[in-house]
Amino acid sequence: MFWADRIVREIKETEAAQRAVASKGTASEKPLIVRDEKSLTGRVHIGSMRGVAIHGLISEVLAQEGIPNRYLFELNDFDVFDSVPPYLPKEEFEQHLGKVVCDVPSPVEGYANFAEYFGAEFVSVHKKAGFYPEYYRSTELYRSGKMDDYIRIALNHSDEVRRIYKEVSGSVKNEKWLPISVLCENCNKMMTVRASDWDGQTVAYACDIAPDGTQPCGHTGRIEPFGGTAKLTWKVEWGAKWTALGVDVEGAGKDHSTKGGARDVANHIAKELYSRESPYDVPYEFFLVGGKKMSSSKGKGSSAKDMGELFPPEVLRLVLLGKDINQQIDVDPEGDSVPRTYDWYDELGEHVRSETSEDDYARLFSLCAVKPQDEEGNVLDDATRSAAGSANTWEFRFSQVAIIVQMPHLDLIQEAAAAKGSSLTEDEVAILEERAAYAKFWLGTYAPEQFRYELQETMPEMMLSEVQKTALASLAQYMETEHTGEEIHTRLHEMKTEVPIQPKELFAALYKIFLNRDSGPKAGWFISVLPREFVHQRLVEAST
Ligand SMILES: [Zn+2]
Repeated sequence: MFWADRIVREIKETEAAQRAVASKGTASEKPLIVRDEKSLTGRVHIGSMRGVAIHGLISEVLAQEGIPNRYLFELNDFDVFDSVPPYLPKEEFEQHLGKVVCDVPSPVEGYANFAEYFGAEFVSVHKKAGFYPEYYRSTELYRSGKMDDYIRIALNHSDEVRRIYKEVSGSVKNEKWLPISVLCENCNKMMTVRASDWDGQTVAYACDIAPDGTQPCGHTGRIEPFGGTAKLTWKVEWGAKWTALGVDVEGAGKDHSTKGGARDVANHIAKELYSRESPYDVPYEFFLVGGKKMSSSKGKGSSAKDMGELFPPEVLRLVLLGKDINQQIDVDPEGDSVPRTYDWYDELGEHVRSETSEDDYARLFSLCAVKPQDEEGNVLDDATRSAAGSANTWEFRFSQVAIIVQMPHLDLIQEAAAAKGSSLTEDEVAILEERAAYAKFWLGTYAPEQFRYELQETMPEMMLSEVQKTALASLAQYMETEHTGEEIHTRLHEMKTEVPIQPKELFAALYKIFLNRDSGPKAGWFISVLPREFVHQRLVEAST
């Protein structure tokens, strides 16, 4: 069973889901609340797209199953700016360390603040992959006073909070510690401030600590910690947000879901402080970039934006949804995973075309189709973005497209028609042209050397063995007439015993004379796409 169907089947059994179904169409309708969030302390890593996609798909499948639900996504703009990302000028942003990100300026003009800029960039990737949650910001939650009751409860029971931290996660807080962070009224920083002495109305605070290069101003005072002047410590905040928003389904990366981890603490906070059950959990595996986790992969190609540029919407959705939540995703833009991902998508399409029965592959393929939005932002449920995502659309393999776009003498559409065996439909041409643009982008950015080819206009300098020359002469004779890639492939294999020649030696000679390299694409196909006269002449030249 496909993972999202398995999870939704379990959610259907929860009381919250049954309540949501029973309330459907009544005055007190209460849809199921699915929620995810992301702190906007810099450019967002692709790993965070996994949460967006998992919650998004669960919301879609719940709706398909007739369970009313809303998918809320929090753009967390009330988190502290604790380090200057390496892609921003340190001297310009250092002064803002310790503030909350809604008070840090945007690195680019035209955005209200730092969080809005990186939030917009992240949201554009959601949209590309066809996920359309309802967005809200943390500052709205705090400034509207929605969090006030939960702040008050946490402060009234800070001894309970300390006990939960100690019992669940082993973290010991001193007796003065309060589960909130306060904004200094003088310098507007949060990281530099210690809060203490809750008197039922106000807390005392002192702006006098300097973690990680921050500058405290020394101000002291008392403040009512409500309406956005302070925020809860994050594990307490997590439980408070579930309560304030009535969250029923919320997963997180599996690193948060370990025993004694953040989720465990938040579960206890929700239950013991706010008297509510924690949401249905969906712990999910990591999204690795080139084998590296989010915390360690800060390099090129690891952000949601970068990864989003490598794939068209349907393939991007497959990357995000194709693996079960308990399996890792690993994409390396600088390795062969980009062509392999396109192959995965095409094979899925081929499978769906050849099978008549519904199975998990067909289910996955149908869920990769991206529903577009109209100009007002309404999701067009009955439409898909284009012919992409339709099992009837033939697609030319990305790896072949990536070679052809590097061969100026080749016509992409003509070669595609030859590979398909018939002319392309209008939709197929559009999809092919889009794919060619993605291939060119990848070749110009991340693609490793092994995928870059340059057809040698003149014969490269080299030494060939007598056996190699004999084989090339035999192939030259064969190429006096037109053959398909499949036929050439068969002929090359016959020559292994006929000449005889080791396949390695034969292919090395072919790659050398055409590409001046030791390895290359599938030889039979490659030779078939080159102009036959050129191939023939080069083979003759090489074998004499
Ligand atoms: Zn201060």
